[in-house]
Amino acid sequence: MPHPEQAEQIRFIFDSVLRERNVSNVLSLVQAKGIGLPERKCKNGVVWPANPISRAHLYRIIRNPVYVGKVRYKNKLYPGEQEGIVSAEVFQEVQDLLDAKRIKRGYTRKLIDGLLRGLLYCKECGSKMVPTYGKKNGRKHFYYICHKCQREGYASCPTKTVRQAEFNEAVIRRLSERGLLNRAEFERLSIDKQTSALMETAEKITYAYQDEYIEVFLKNGVSFGFRAKVKPHIGGVPKRERQAYKNRQKLKADKATYYKALALQIREYMRVNNLSQKQCAQALGLSSARGSQILALI
Ligand SMILES: [Zn+2]
Repeated sequence: MPHPEQAEQIRFIFDSVLRERNVSNVLSLVQAKGIGLPERKCKNGVVWPANPISRAHLYRIIRNPVYVGKVRYKNKLYPGEQEGIVSAEVFQEVQDLLDAKRIKRGYTRKLIDGLLRGLLYCKECGSKMVPTYGKKNGRKHFYYICHKCQREGYASCPTKTVRQAEFNEAVIRRLSERGLLNRAEFERLSIDKQTSALMETAEKITYAYQDEYIEVFLKNGVSFGFRAKVKPHIGGVPKRERQAYKNRQKLKADKATYYKALALQIREYMRVNNLSQKQCAQALGLSSARGSQILALI
């Protein structure tokens, strides 16, 4: 049985989680109360100083079934030798609260990181489709964008964008229907592991915008496809992409203007000094190929 004072602290922690419903708040409360690891002296004489509780330590406590009198072995709970400090109801309620938060956080990260990053290709132009997001009315909207569109503008490929949440869901559902993925297990994985798990099964996923068709190419050479109505990103061309595209176009235009001006100067230089194109390029420190390339601009 733990020290009565320690048992009191553990109960305080669990109750605080239920009251505050926010681990950061609980951490501040607990630290303010001075709860933490007391000073410890090891057998070899080393003294560990007292340590305020850390966030990780707090999580270990509120996730530890030992406080409800159980032990975890290979992900299953068994009755332990010690009596619990907190009631089974309180413990379960805390677990549910933490699980709900984790799923929510994992879900957003899934969208930011793009669950299908590295796997998804645009069938129309063969480019990769990459995860990104736009903001509208203060809300973020996550989608995949055809990389060609991202680079060269929305006119360059009909695919443009597709909403992530719907697309991810469509793919995961089909994979689990075919027994290629255990949905319950999959949901428990961290986002990075989810992506790796998909990459172990699938080689490539393509999206054909015009046919609204998704095709999954498995590692074992088998492929299957299905029609899916997945919507494009809302609000049309996102501002961020539009601005980036404008900037690239401006840079291109600036470069073109610069080289045209240079070409005019070279021609003038040739005329005044009565030089051949080759001599002129040499005098300016350019290769003759580069010289004629620039002169071809006018
Ligand atoms: Zn494309």
